[in-house]
Amino acid sequence: MSLGIVRYNDPVLRKKGEKITVFDDGLALLADAMIEAMHEAQGIGLAAQQVGHPIQLCVVDLRVAEVDFEWILDGAKPPLELFMPMVIANPKVSAAKKAPTATAEEGCLSFPEIRGDVSRVREISVKFQDQAGLRHTLDCTGLFARCILHEVDHLNGVLFIDRMEKEVREAIEDAVKALAKETRAGRTAAT
Ligand SMILES: [Zn+2]
Repeated sequence: MSLGIVRYNDPVLRKKGEKITVFDDGLALLADAMIEAMHEAQGIGLAAQQVGHPIQLCVVDLRVAEVDFEWILDGAKPPLELFMPMVIANPKVSAAKKAPTATAEEGCLSFPEIRGDVSRVREISVKFQDQAGLRHTLDCTGLFARCILHEVDHLNGVLFIDRMEKEVREAIEDAVKALAKETRAGRTAAT
Protein backbone atom coordinates (compact mmCIF):
# COMPACT_ATOMS: atom_id res chain seq x y z
CA MET A 1 0.00 0.00 0.00
CA SER A 2 1.43 3.34 -1.01
CA LEU A 3 -0.13 6.48 0.40
CA GLY A 4 -0.24 9.89 -1.24
CA ILE A 5 0.53 12.87 1.00
CA VAL A 6 -2.14 15.57 0.85
CA ARG A 7 -1.09 19.16 0.43
CA TYR A 8 -2.25 22.48 1.80
CA ASN A 9 -5.07 23.50 1.74
CA ASP A 10 -6.84 20.14 1.57
CA PRO A 11 -9.70 20.40 4.14
CA VAL A 12 -8.60 17.18 5.93
CA LEU A 13 -5.53 19.05 7.24
CA ARG A 14 -7.87 21.21 9.34
CA LYS A 15 -9.74 18.30 10.93
CA LYS A 16 -9.14 17.37 14.56
CA GLY A 17 -8.26 13.69 14.75
CA GLU A 18 -10.61 11.20 16.40
CA LYS A 19 -9.22 9.32 19.37
CA ILE A 20 -8.09 5.80 18.48
CA THR A 21 -9.92 3.14 20.46
CA VAL A 22 -9.30 0.01 18.36
CA PHE A 23 -5.71 -1.20 17.96
CA ASP A 24 -6.13 -3.80 15.26
CA ASP A 25 -4.34 -5.01 12.10
CA GLY A 26 -5.94 -2.19 10.09
CA LEU A 27 -4.31 0.40 12.33
CA ALA A 28 -0.93 -1.37 12.18
CA LEU A 29 -1.15 -1.50 8.36
CA LEU A 30 -1.98 2.20 8.18
CA ALA A 31 0.95 3.03 10.51
CA ASP A 32 3.30 0.92 8.35
CA ALA A 33 2.07 2.65 5.18
CA MET A 34 2.56 6.05 6.82
CA ILE A 35 6.12 5.12 7.78
CA GLU A 36 6.77 4.09 4.17
CA ALA A 37 5.31 7.36 2.84
CA MET A 38 7.37 9.37 5.37
CA HIS A 39 10.57 7.60 4.34
CA GLU A 40 9.80 8.00 0.62
CA ALA A 41 9.29 11.73 1.13
CA GLN A 42 12.44 11.92 3.32
CA GLY A 43 10.50 13.42 6.19
CA ILE A 44 11.08 12.96 9.94
CA GLY A 45 7.38 12.95 10.84
CA LEU A 46 3.97 12.38 9.29
CA ALA A 47 0.47 12.75 10.72
CA ALA A 48 -2.59 10.72 9.68
CA GLN A 49 -4.32 13.90 8.45
CA GLN A 50 -1.55 14.18 5.86
CA VAL A 51 -2.63 10.90 4.29
CA GLY A 52 -6.33 11.73 4.52
CA HIS A 53 -7.26 10.15 7.87
CA PRO A 54 -8.36 12.51 10.65
CA ILE A 55 -7.36 10.30 13.59
CA GLN A 56 -4.92 10.69 16.53
CA LEU A 57 -2.00 8.90 14.89
CA CYS A 58 1.43 10.04 13.73
CA VAL A 59 4.80 8.49 12.96
CA VAL A 60 8.28 9.91 13.50
CA ASP A 61 11.78 8.78 12.61
CA LEU A 62 14.70 10.91 13.75
CA ARG A 63 17.51 8.49 12.97
CA VAL A 64 18.64 10.71 10.08
CA ALA A 65 18.71 13.89 12.20
CA GLU A 66 22.13 15.47 12.43
CA VAL A 67 21.56 17.46 15.60
CA ASP A 68 21.74 16.53 19.26
CA PHE A 69 18.68 16.01 21.41
CA GLU A 70 17.85 14.07 24.53
CA TRP A 71 15.14 11.57 25.35
CA ILE A 72 13.91 9.32 28.13
CA LEU A 73 11.41 6.67 27.04
CA ASP A 74 9.61 4.85 29.85
CA GLY A 75 12.37 5.78 32.26
CA ALA A 76 15.32 4.64 30.13
CA LYS A 77 17.37 5.91 27.21
CA PRO A 78 17.22 3.18 24.56
CA PRO A 79 19.20 3.75 21.34
CA LEU A 80 17.06 5.39 18.62
CA GLU A 81 17.51 2.27 16.46
CA LEU A 82 15.50 0.29 19.02
CA PHE A 83 12.32 2.37 18.84
CA MET A 84 12.44 4.31 15.55
CA PRO A 85 10.44 4.56 13.38
CA MET A 86 7.98 5.30 16.14
CA VAL A 87 4.19 5.05 16.04
CA ILE A 88 2.39 7.53 18.29
CA ALA A 89 -1.34 7.23 18.97
CA ASN A 90 -3.49 9.50 21.17
CA PRO A 91 -0.57 11.72 22.29
CA LYS A 92 -1.01 14.10 25.22
CA VAL A 93 1.79 16.65 25.42
CA SER A 94 2.72 18.65 28.47
CA ALA A 95 5.43 21.22 29.09
CA ALA A 96 6.58 23.12 32.15
CA LYS A 97 4.74 26.41 32.63
CA LYS A 98 7.79 28.56 31.97
CA ALA A 99 9.55 26.12 29.66
CA PRO A 100 12.23 27.78 27.51
CA THR A 101 11.44 28.15 23.84
CA ALA A 102 13.61 27.99 20.75
CA THR A 103 13.12 29.20 17.21
CA ALA A 104 14.14 27.08 14.24
CA GLU A 105 13.25 26.66 10.60
CA GLU A 106 10.62 24.03 9.88
CA GLY A 107 9.26 22.42 6.77
CA CYS A 108 6.20 20.21 6.29
CA LEU A 109 5.53 17.41 3.80
CA SER A 110 2.16 19.04 3.02
CA PHE A 111 3.96 22.28 2.07
CA PRO A 112 6.62 21.21 -0.44
CA GLU A 113 9.55 23.64 -0.61
CA ILE A 114 8.01 26.10 1.88
CA ARG A 115 9.98 26.70 5.07
CA GLY A 116 9.87 29.20 7.89
CA ASP A 117 10.92 29.85 11.48
CA VAL A 118 8.66 28.58 14.24
CA SER A 119 9.10 29.10 17.97
CA ARG A 120 8.29 26.12 20.21
CA VAL A 121 9.08 24.91 23.72
CA ARG A 122 12.38 23.05 23.94
CA GLU A 123 11.37 20.29 26.34
CA ILE A 124 8.19 18.28 26.49
CA SER A 125 6.72 15.22 28.09
CA VAL A 126 4.30 13.14 26.02
CA LYS A 127 2.06 10.27 27.03
CA PHE A 128 0.93 8.13 24.12
CA GLN A 129 0.00 4.63 22.99
CA ASP A 130 1.89 2.53 20.44
CA GLN A 131 0.29 0.57 17.57
CA ALA A 132 -0.59 -2.23 19.99
CA GLY A 133 -2.30 0.17 22.39
CA LEU A 134 0.45 -0.06 25.03
CA ARG A 135 0.99 3.12 27.03
CA HIS A 136 4.31 4.98 27.11
CA THR A 137 5.80 8.17 28.47
CA LEU A 138 8.46 10.05 26.54
CA ASP A 139 10.43 13.08 27.71
CA CYS A 140 12.41 14.74 24.94
CA THR A 141 14.18 17.93 23.91
CA GLY A 142 15.30 19.86 20.85
CA LEU A 143 14.42 18.54 17.40
CA PHE A 144 12.69 15.48 18.90
CA ALA A 145 10.34 17.75 20.89
CA ARG A 146 9.86 20.08 17.91
CA CYS A 147 8.98 17.19 15.60
CA ILE A 148 6.40 15.77 18.02
CA LEU A 149 4.87 19.22 18.64
CA HIS A 150 4.59 19.75 14.85
CA GLU A 151 2.89 16.36 14.40
CA VAL A 152 0.57 16.76 17.41
CA ASP A 153 -0.49 20.11 15.96
CA HIS A 154 -1.47 18.27 12.76
CA LEU A 155 -3.60 15.88 14.84
CA ASN A 156 -5.51 18.92 16.09
CA GLY A 157 -5.86 20.55 12.66
CA VAL A 158 -3.13 23.12 13.40
CA LEU A 159 -0.43 23.83 10.81
CA PHE A 160 3.08 25.24 11.18
CA ILE A 161 2.11 28.37 9.25
CA ASP A 162 -0.38 29.13 12.06
CA ARG A 163 2.53 29.28 14.53
CA MET A 164 4.75 31.63 12.53
CA GLU A 165 5.38 35.24 13.48
CA LYS A 166 3.63 37.71 11.20
CA GLU A 167 6.80 38.69 9.31
CA VAL A 168 7.78 35.06 8.70
CA ARG A 169 4.31 34.24 7.45
CA GLU A 170 4.25 37.28 5.18
CA ALA A 171 7.51 36.27 3.54
CA ILE A 172 5.99 32.95 2.40
CA GLU A 173 2.40 34.13 1.86
CA ASP A 174 2.59 34.14 -1.96
CA ALA A 175 4.00 30.62 -2.03
CA VAL A 176 1.33 29.42 0.42
CA LYS A 177 -1.46 30.95 -1.67
CA ALA A 178 -0.04 29.46 -4.88
CA LEU A 179 0.10 26.03 -3.22
CA ALA A 180 -3.52 26.31 -2.04
CA LYS A 181 -4.59 27.22 -5.57
CA GLU A 182 -2.65 24.33 -7.07
CA THR A 183 -4.19 21.91 -4.55
CA ARG A 184 -7.70 23.19 -5.30
CA ALA A 185 -7.14 22.80 -9.05
CA GLY A 186 -5.83 19.26 -8.51
CA ARG A 187 -8.87 18.31 -6.44
CA THR A 188 -11.24 19.73 -9.03
CA ALA A 189 -9.45 17.88 -11.81
CA ALA A 190 -9.70 14.62 -9.88
CA THR A 191 -13.47 14.81 -9.42
ZN1 LIG B 1 3.70 18.90 8.82
